[in-house]
Amino acid sequence: MALHTQVDVSQQDREVDINPVYVQEKGLETPRYRLPENRMLPQTAAQVVRDELILDGNARLNLATFVTTWMEPEAEVLMAACADKNMIDKDEYPQTAEIERRCVNILAHLWHSPVDGNATGCSTTGSSEACMLGGMALLWRWRKARRAAGQDASRPNLVMGTNVQVCWEKFCRYWDVEPRMVPMEPGRLHLTADGAVAQCDENTIGVVAIMGSTMDGSYEPVKEISDALDRLQQDKGCDIPIHVDGASGGFVAPFLHPFLDWDFRVPRVASINASGHKYGLVYPGVGWVVWREPSALPDELVFNVNYLGGQMPTFALNFSRPGANVVAQYYNFLRLGFKGYHDVQQACQEVAVFLSSAIAKMGPFELLTEGKELPVFAFKLKDSITGYSVFDISERLRSRGWLVPAYTFPANLQQTAVMRIVVKNGFSMDLAGCLLADLRTQVKILEAHPRPPVPLVDEKARESFRH
Ligand SMILES: *Cc1c(COP(=O)(O)O)cnc(C)c1O
Repeated sequence: MALHTQVDVSQQDREVDINPVYVQEKGLETPRYRLPENRMLPQTAAQVVRDELILDGNARLNLATFVTTWMEPEAEVLMAACADKNMIDKDEYPQTAEIERRCVNILAHLWHSPVDGNATGCSTTGSSEACMLGGMALLWRWRKARRAAGQDASRPNLVMGTNVQVCWEKFCRYWDVEPRMVPMEPGRLHLTADGAVAQCDENTIGVVAIMGSTMDGSYEPVKEISDALDRLQQDKGCDIPIHVDGASGGFVAPFLHPFLDWDFRVPRVASINASGHKYGLVYPGVGWVVWREPSALPDELVFNVNYLGGQMPTFALNFSRPGANVVAQYYNFLRLGFKGYHDVQQACQEVAVFLSSAIAKMGPFELLTEGKELPVFAFKLKDSITGYSVFDISERLRSRGWLVPAYTFPANLQQTAVMRIVVKNGFSMDLAGCLLADLRTQVKILEAHPRPPVPLVDEKARESFRH
């Protein structure tokens, strides 16, 4: 979470004044950065907090995030009813544990695990924790094999594209694994088979392939990467597993691209993660990771907790965690079924493609993706446009409440500044039409008031959000 520094209260601890309507006594104030001396009524406290939160953006207009911003009222009620359950208390809440087991099974099946019932998996707080667990399994497995063969196990590396989500950089830094990042190039916005294999050697613990790059919504070619790794194994003998980071695509590809080989149908795919709180359609706080077979998950990583008088194996970085999100995931599975998920993701895709084609026709823009893989697309200004930037557009859209991020790509495309739109459940054609109208208006204003070009470094300082 954000690292917060302590505030110098002698300078800044202005008290929060409380509207006299909320309280009996007039002029009640309370400190901001220290624990108040006395209590206040629950209604008063709730009202003060609610008033502050007005300043947050409207989640429904947040086209920056991949994370769910709308759930049905029934799901919200169910989540509130489970707010008091701790996911780790398997013994105390065995039915919640059973529901987690069902979800893992549903996902293993959806991702075509070989049917002999060998897949194992668990829920997590999100894909970041899931990727950390997936990466740890790769590292432990590689180390064990190297040691067993009497070989040096001190210099592990992980191969991936520079477009990976920050969780993979964290994994490498926290576990002292060398990140081997394959850069982006013009016309190549994610990892390719050749790019990946060129970085692999006997110290490679795995290759991360992303199903749904956060940069532009495109799928990385898992099957081609796997085929190239097969050839590498034939030539050089290294048997390198793939972890698929399906944070978004794990809940999109099975429904919209059922014939694409990206999951356990590809034998080299050892593990897959997904965010239940992205296209799994649950509010923030749940992710999933599934391993193809027990041998992909070394025993040393597994700890046991009590469960109905016995023991249940667990693998997690956290201990206590809310159970409500797992229950909500199961609710969605029951409520929507395969057909329902398909229809929801299809509706998102239709909105994404409608928006991207309208934006392409507008004039100043050039699409990098169309939203035909994830319902997510990135676009940039044509090189001929110099009087304003994507950062200006992002800022102007914000004045209407729309949160559309502008950011620069990682190496080697740092000079490319783009905007990205993530279409999620609840973002209707109607809202998309409103966004287009606002985008047209803002572009017209910017065209009428061009400014001299600003160096990209200064522009980047304005980068307000990027996920
Ligand atoms: C969002 C995302 C993550 C991190 O997932 P959280 O669920 O937010 O922790 C990791 N990888 C990819 C590709 C993502 O899109």
